Formats: sequence, C-alpha cells, structure tokens
Amino acid sequence: QSRNPGEVEFQQAVKEVFDSLVPVLAKKPHYIKQAILERIVEPERMISFRVPWIDDQGNVNVNRGFRVQFNSAIGPYKGGLRFHPSVNASIIKFLGFEQIFKNSLTGQPIGGGKGGSDFDPKGKSDVEIMRFTQSFMTELSKYIGPDIDVPAGDIGVGAKEIGYMFGQYKRMRGGFESGVLTGKGINYGGSLARKEATGYGTVYFVEEMLKDKDLSFEGSTVVVSGSGNVSIYAIEKAQQLGAKVVACSDSGGYIYDENGIDLSTVKRLKEVEGKRISEYVKEHPQALYVQGFSGIWSIPCDIALPCATQNEINENAAQVLVSNGVKAIGEGANMPSTLDAIDVFLSNGVLFAPAKAANAGGVSVSALEMAQNSARLSWTFEEVDSKLHEIMKNIYRESMNAAEEYGAPGNLVVGANIAGFVKVADAMIMQGVI
Ligand code: NDP
Repeated sequence: QSRNPGEVEFQQAVKEVFDSLVPVLAKKPHYIKQAILERIVEPERMISFRVPWIDDQGNVNVNRGFRVQFNSAIGPYKGGLRFHPSVNASIIKFLGFEQIFKNSLTGQPIGGGKGGSDFDPKGKSDVEIMRFTQSFMTELSKYIGPDIDVPAGDIGVGAKEIGYMFGQYKRMRGGFESGVLTGKGINYGGSLARKEATGYGTVYFVEEMLKDKDLSFEGSTVVVSGSGNVSIYAIEKAQQLGAKVVACSDSGGYIYDENGIDLSTVKRLKEVEGKRISEYVKEHPQALYVQGFSGIWSIPCDIALPCATQNEINENAAQVLVSNGVKAIGEGANMPSTLDAIDVFLSNGVLFAPAKAANAGGVSVSALEMAQNSARLSWTFEEVDSKLHEIMKNIYRESMNAAEEYGAPGNLVVGANIAGFVKVADAMIMQGVI
C-alpha cells in the first residue's frame, strides 16, 4: 500500500487476487523465491500524458491520458481505453492488473494493458470528440503497435472513437496496420461479433455455471445494470435464452418493466440517439423510471448481471439481492462487486461468476480480430460466435478445475485468479528476471 498511496481501486484488485493465491504459493514456493508477486504488481511501464484540445467555443482544454503496459509475459499488451471523468492512475492500474489474468484465461497469446483519459464524452459534439481523440492518439501512437500494444474500447469508447483513433494512428505512422486497435468498423478490419462479445460471453459463462446446478436462463427473471455495450448484448443473449429481463439503467437511474424490457427501444435510445434511459418510459408508459442507479439491486430477480462499472454492488446491495432470493451473479463489468459484497454472495451459496472470467469474451474476440487481421481474412458472425462460446466454456472449466485442485471447489473467484495467474507466472520465470 505504501508504494501505491491512495490507489484504492488498484489495492482492492490486488488484494482479491493475492488472497486467492495462498494455496498456490504453498504448493509452488519457487514463485516466492522468484519474487513473482512483487514483480507482477509493478507495471512494466506506465505512461501518462497531456491531451490538449480545442472545444467548439474555441477554448483550450487539457485532459490527462494514460496507458499502463502491465505485463507482456504471454503476448503484446492488450486492453481497452476508457474515457470517463473518474479515470485516474488507480482506475487504470486496477483495470490493467485484472486484464493480465483475464487475458491469460482466454487461452489467447495476449498480455495485459489498459488506458484512457478523464475526458467526458457526454454532451460533446462529434467534432469535439474527433479533436480530442486525434490529440490523444498523436501521443499514444508512439507507444503502441500490432506486436507491441493493441488498445480497444471500454466505457465511453465505442466504434466511433476507435475509428477516429485508427485514422489518426494511420496518419502518424503511415501504412495500414489494421492490427493496432480492435473494435474497428467491419468495413476496415473489424470482426463480426466483437460488439456482442462481452455481453454474449458473460451470458454463455453464466449459462455453464447454472447448468452445473440444473438451472438455466429459461423462465428466469434477470436484472442487468447499465445500458451500454456490455449490458445491451447481455440482455439480448439472456432474452434469446428465454429469460425475462425486467430492468436496466444508466448513471442517472434505472427502468423497471415488468413485461420485460423492449430491447429495440433501448438499442435505439442508446446506440442511435445517444439519449438517457429515462426516455424509455415515454414510449412504454407501463414501465417505471427511478432516479439513482444503485436502487436497481432492490428489484427481486433470479439472476443479476452488473454490467455498468466498478463497485456498483456494495455489501448492502448484496444483502438485499440475497434476501430477495437471487441465485446467480454474473459480472459483465469490471470489479462491479466490492470485496464485502462478494463475501455476502459466497457465504450465502449464491453462484458467483467473477468479472475476469465472465467478461473475458470481449477481449477474446479482440484477439480473434487480431488473428483475422494478421491472416487478412474475415470470419462469419457464426464462426466467431461459436469460437467465443467455446472459449467461455473453456474458461469456466479451467476456473472450476483450478478451484478444485487448490482446495476451494466451486469457488470461481479463487479458480479464475489461480488459473489466470499460474500461466503468467510460469512464462515470467521462463523468461528470466526481467
Ligand atoms: P459503455 O460506455 O458502453 O456503457 C457503460 C454503461 O454503464 C452506461 O449505461 C453508463 O451510463 C453506465 N455507467 C458508466 N459509469 C457509471 C458510473 N460511474 N455509475 C453508474 N453507471 C455508470 O461501457 P461498456 O458497456 O463497454 O463497459 C461497461 C463495463 O464493462 C465496464 O466496467 C467495462 O470495463 C467492462 N468491460 C467492457 C468490455 C467491452 O468489451 N466493452 C470488455 C470487458 C469489460 P451513462 O451512459 O449514464 O454513463
């Protein structure tokens, strides 16, 4: 803690992983001698830079840009870019740290990285977003490349922002290095099913977890927080599997529709019109809009899929979910449950799918996008989706096996942390003290 003062989110993410590793260190004491823990918490490189840009009124604005290149033991750094006013070094480091183990779990050759800026895209014109992203990429382009570091989207960074950044990278570096960014438009090197991958992947993972207990999405009541990229496609897949999704949210509040959310309205409001979720009730008067996003966890449900942001379920919210009879939690967002909340779920027998396993579908398909770019070909939606499905099943099995092997059967938090860690630790040792 003294090396990373005030970095509470980063410390929380490290604690969750390290708590799981106790049985691993007992079995493999050479990790201690090799100072693997000390090395793995220290990023290989942390870049912080000024991003100046001019708004539509002619004012000069300055934001801060970040890229953490955390670990390249098993492949080039890979991880998204987040544009949100809450972004700081701690948030970027927690996300980058998680990414190391998540990427390892996918079975793809990708290391861990993450980046972003405290820029707030909300309320900005298209031209302002373009000016900002061009300024951001002008600096970032010095540090990334298809075999070095491959950023993607995250909160506040979708296909539009990736497109502007790709254009600027091309201008700065020349050539057409399509593998430098993932989440690109389909017409210039993007992969089909990337947009759907994180949400679908989360549901595929939870489906496996439910199957083991003879449960399923069919006929279940589901609550999904957020209404962004991950949420929309988690809702879509859950509905395809026969669930009734009764609520979703944005940072302003949540909607409750006892008939089941009409996803086409949410998609239009969020993906096309860029409106608030409160607008939903204008078209669906039977639905309820409640201000404040955290109240969503008081809605009774069988399955809860937090897909908005970190620490959105605290101990109190977890207790309410449990007392309302929740059976399973699938983390679509990164670290959406606090450590106390996870304790509440595990100690009450709630099935719990932790983020670094459950939301690994997005980065998995990003790695498939890189593979398609290298081979200069494009797979069909069905090909990518079926590879994604297989990857999520594998991650589930590997995490369950690791939990069993290290004395915590059924505990996917422990299992995912261990399965992700061991591969990276072994690769680090094989590459010497670097
Ligand atoms: P989006 O920007 O598309 O959507 C984010 C959603 O969460 C929006 O509805 C947003 O509401 C809400 N939200 C964001 N910040 C807050 C906050 N502080 N409080 C309450 N609500 C908030 O992002 P994504 O869907 O891409 O990402 C969501 C989560 O999933 C993040 O944790 C991200 O790291 C994680 N993730 C994303 C992946 C991807 O492929 N996109 C891959 C793996 C993980 P509003 O619009 O009002 O801000």
